[in-house]
Amino acid sequence: MATKPIIELSKLYAPTLREDPGDAEIVSHKLLLRAAMIRRVAAGIYSFLPLGLRVLRKVEQIVREEMDAIGCQELLMNIMQPGELWQRSGRWNDYGPELFRLNDRHDNIFALSPTSEELLTDLLQGELRSYKELPKSFYHIQWKYRDEMRPRFGLLRGREFLMKDAYSFHDSRESLQEHYDAQAHAYSRICERLGLRYVPVEADSGQIGGKVTLEFMALADAGEDDIAHCACGFAANTEVATAAIKPMLFGPADAELERIYTPIDGSIPELAALLHTEESACVKALAGKGADGQVYVVFIPGDHELGDIKVSKAIEGFEFLDEEQMQAAGLVLGFIGPVNLPANIKTLADQSLAGLPRWLTGANESEYHLSGAAPGRDFNIDAWADLAEARPGDFCAECGEPLSFERGIEVGHVFQLGTKYSDSMGAFYMAEDGSERPFIMGCYGWGVSRSIAAVIEQLNDEAGIAWPISIAPAEVCIIPLSLGGSLEATARSLSSELAARGIEVVIDDRDERPGVKFADADLIGWPYQVVIGERSLGEGLVELKKRSDMQKSNLSVEDAVAQLASMVEEERRLFA
Ligand code: ATP
Ligand code: MG
Repeated sequence: MATKPIIELSKLYAPTLREDPGDAEIVSHKLLLRAAMIRRVAAGIYSFLPLGLRVLRKVEQIVREEMDAIGCQELLMNIMQPGELWQRSGRWNDYGPELFRLNDRHDNIFALSPTSEELLTDLLQGELRSYKELPKSFYHIQWKYRDEMRPRFGLLRGREFLMKDAYSFHDSRESLQEHYDAQAHAYSRICERLGLRYVPVEADSGQIGGKVTLEFMALADAGEDDIAHCACGFAANTEVATAAIKPMLFGPADAELERIYTPIDGSIPELAALLHTEESACVKALAGKGADGQVYVVFIPGDHELGDIKVSKAIEGFEFLDEEQMQAAGLVLGFIGPVNLPANIKTLADQSLAGLPRWLTGANESEYHLSGAAPGRDFNIDAWADLAEARPGDFCAECGEPLSFERGIEVGHVFQLGTKYSDSMGAFYMAEDGSERPFIMGCYGWGVSRSIAAVIEQLNDEAGIAWPISIAPAEVCIIPLSLGGSLEATARSLSSELAARGIEVVIDDRDERPGVKFADADLIGWPYQVVIGERSLGEGLVELKKRSDMQKSNLSVEDAVAQLASMVEEERRLFA
């Protein structure tokens, strides 16, 4: 392996900060600033300092290798793109204020690229012609621009960010599916090589348009999505996740209908407290109406919330009734139940309640509830649906195990576009039968800069960043505790020998106190740190610290190079 250049900290521009910068809210943002990786230029716009750039380039390289491995071809498209292309696809308008727009001196309009569907379909048009040349897929790693409503959290949500975006072109759905699967596999590999704990989540398609899509979510509290997931592989946004919910039975399963005096204002926690039961034993009733004005009462387990997306799927244009509308519909706020509802009201209930033989529910009468209400005997439900938003305590609908709930950062997104862009951009190929057909397309985005923040969100501690070796700014840091004597000489020869073995070495040859050197080493997060101090060197030893677990051990000076080299190589293999 080729000798690596040695980084001398005395010369490196790395102004680390002792204190947390005031404007940074989340740990990755703080640590990226403190460890001298990035600096803010404007809201959501950051420059990369030398250390940060080393990390960025490594992430980029991992993404590049995984794209190359699935036959995706690298090219480089433009940041500044003719507005006319965006008008043709309709996105000049549809993208709204998130699209950065500018004019040249001749008043031609341009967009700063937030993605590149338009440019690439136009680029290929007329030249990628025959079905015989398909499938083809292309990627580039390029800066993207989005005037986000709330740029924040450093690299997590920028207005300028580095993205790998790939696009594939096919003549059949099967061919698209095959490449989509390969991209998804590549994304799993990228996550693993970055040391990310992640789940792929089937998601709503959002604004790009199309049907089949997977979001790769790095699990971290700073994430903006709530995810329900299970060891069996199930994962979904909680908004849409179907869970196995187990409402509690109040009283015996064959109880008679009973009217209970409940002098409360009708909230579920109050009811549960009054009757010394759990909230999940109470059936919650919510009143709303559909787009057509039909009034509905919707029932869900008392410890759950109604899912907005779920109810809107079941009832088009669903809106809650206000107090006045409830009165007008003959409903008693706080005491609504399925027994003796006004006849023109329709009922919809969460599917989990279908298994509940007796309900504890409102009596449609002020200050009264019913227990032992039996579906089929005392009331009927017009329709059942998945309505309740999944929450901790619920179970996996696929395997029955308890679901885990965590927040997720979307680091990548694979997407079957179909013919949306080829139709609108007029991008056609010649099929085997001689007919002209629009390309069937897929698109695949990876947040290169965002995934750096995601890694730090997962791998940090009080002292700083604990990089996986795959993207650390360097692999080994050698720290002589004094300069000018045998400690520095040992440090220099150790550095050269490791570098000669192809290991990325940093030497902390700054004239600083040991405490400062240690603090910076942990903050920046070099995976292996070798301290060369007087006492241990006197015994022929150097001290090794592994950043990931902070474990210390001694190495003899003679074996240090061989041992370190084999540790580094082993660690590299874990992330290869
Ligand atoms: P989000 O829902 O977070 O806004 P998105 O759905 O708009 O993401 P895509 O258009 O699919 O994102 O972009 C592909 C990838 O680019 C995302 O998975 C993410 O990793 C990254 N990305 C998107 N927006 C930003 C941003 N503002 N800052 C940094 N990375 C981003
Ligand atoms: Mg977005």
